Amino acid sequence: MKIVLLGAPGAGKGTVAKALNKLTGAVQISTGDILRSEVRAESDLGKIAKGYMDAGDLVPDELIMRMMEKRLQQPDCAAGFILDGFPRTIAQATALDEMMPELGIELDFAANLDVAKEVILDRLTTRRTCSNPDCQAIYNVKSMPTKVEGICDKCGSPVVQRDDETEQAISKRLDVYTEKTVPLISYYEKEGKLLNVRTASSKASAQVIFEKIR
Ligand code: AMP
Repeated sequence: MKIVLLGAPGAGKGTVAKALNKLTGAVQISTGDILRSEVRAESDLGKIAKGYMDAGDLVPDELIMRMMEKRLQQPDCAAGFILDGFPRTIAQATALDEMMPELGIELDFAANLDVAKEVILDRLTTRRTCSNPDCQAIYNVKSMPTKVEGICDKCGSPVVQRDDETEQAISKRLDVYTEKTVPLISYYEKEGKLLNVRTASSKASAQVIFEKIR
């Protein structure tokens, strides 16, 4: 399975990617997770990326493409991959299309998680993430709370609200998504590679995508 997952912030790309990883063994590649670990490591890339991320803006395309060119050549990608949060602009999608033949990769399709805006807003403001970088389990104060308030069920670390999940940053991220990422839906449709997925849950979405591959 070699797919791109499209969808607004909060559409459930991370959850769907994790479910597909369990079903198929394809590795989840989340540009947001890679960037957050660069920020924690205070690397040169992390230092540049942090300002954009905290403001809810996109990190410049050139930096993302350099990072992804390296990532896609790592051996674990041979078993398949699920691109979660990349590409995010037409420039990134075009650069990916140019890069893939050189790397001997062919994309199966792009799955667009089509989730209503009210659901997304509610999810983003109530989402909590485990602060342990090796865990990063995702919870929701309403629909999937931790057993002990504020403490991760899996590893016991504090669960927190991400820096870019304040109301202001969320609103900015949704505007950026509409302006920069929504055009990718038509981009992949024109390539004949779009699978639109509209279901009630992330689990059901993962199943629809899995069935399409089988
Ligand atoms: P995510 O966890 O996918 O919501 O990403 C968090 C933040 O990382 C985004 O708001 C962007 O600032 C940055 N980011 C993640 N993926 C990309 C990408 N493909 N292009 C540019 N910026 C990205």
